[in-house]
Amino acid sequence: MTISYDKFGLKEVINASGKMTILGVSKVAENVLTAQRFGGEHFFEMSELSSQTGAYLAKLLEVEDAQIVSSASAGIAQSVAAIIGEGSVYHAYHPYTDRIKKREILLPKGHNVDYGTPVEVMVNLGGGQVVEAGYANGCSAEQMEMMITENTAAILYIKSHHTVQKSMLTVAEAAAVAEKYQVPLIVDAAAEEDLYRYSKAGADLVIYSGAKAIEGPSSGLVIGRKKYIEWVRLQGKGIGRAMKIGKENILGLTQAVEDRLEHGSETGDSMKERLTPFIEALNQIDGLKATMVQDGAGRDIYRASVKVLDQSAKAVIAALKAEDPAIYTREYQANNGIIEFDIRAVNEREMEKIITRLKEIM
Ligand SMILES: *Cc1c(COP(=O)(O)O)cnc(C)c1O
Repeated sequence: MTISYDKFGLKEVINASGKMTILGVSKVAENVLTAQRFGGEHFFEMSELSSQTGAYLAKLLEVEDAQIVSSASAGIAQSVAAIIGEGSVYHAYHPYTDRIKKREILLPKGHNVDYGTPVEVMVNLGGGQVVEAGYANGCSAEQMEMMITENTAAILYIKSHHTVQKSMLTVAEAAAVAEKYQVPLIVDAAAEEDLYRYSKAGADLVIYSGAKAIEGPSSGLVIGRKKYIEWVRLQGKGIGRAMKIGKENILGLTQAVEDRLEHGSETGDSMKERLTPFIEALNQIDGLKATMVQDGAGRDIYRASVKVLDQSAKAVIAALKAEDPAIYTREYQANNGIIEFDIRAVNEREMEKIITRLKEIM
């Protein structure tokens, strides 16, 4: 059997958008595949697999407990449902019941973003009602506090480059508000690199996406306090069933987390080194002006920022996607005539292909 792009009439994809980072530590990917394969080839007592991998990860991540879920989005929905239901089986069977009034999920207005799906959709799926604190350009701890009512079920904090960055309370400040009013704090850290920081800062539940910074398979991870994680697990009897994750990916994610803690991710210095010749080559192309920029949220990530001089950046982005291989870039700055290349999942050969294609387009 051979599997290929051709078999299904698919295009090869070069991922310079940065959502999935598979480069740098190829050994890790190999380990993850091995773990997935073991999962695929064996049977397990599924509830044991779930709780034991959770306990294993909790120990590594220095939290009370952990639960692997199918995605960070599923993690948000199930965490919200868990906290609203407080471990009630009746609630798991009737997640949207009128009998439970305490459903408000408080989040800074500038965190109510669309990461591909609006945060609000996942909160609603979990039976929560979004209440926004602060304004579009900022939220202080005081603004958060003034929105708390007897129906506040949890505070939700989205730690992400998608959110408004300025004039926002920190995770620790949100944790202090949560503590003062005795409501749990959920942090969505889906794409973040640091697997310790937010639980150490006082979050009760922290949610990660398996296939982003962790470089694992399609999955999600919820870590935090034992009681809440048990409630998250209970959602498997309710809405969680529609978000089931397979044994292959449970084992794959566990391995990916372990490898990541051992090897770390590609450093900013390594990215800068790999970017330098790429940027030089980009600057040889007429009509492009390339520079190196650091991640907008201040992470140790560097990218090529390319100003398109005489034509529309959107047209160039479309042309990059049109051929085979299809080249995907970061498009957030396209309105300003800028295309960004995130090279975490791009190797040297692929960089050459990008340069060749840009020369054709320009
Ligand atoms: C990507 C992302 C998610 C969703 O992650 P999935 O695992 O794809 O569901 C949630 N929140 C933020 C901030 C994200 O960036």
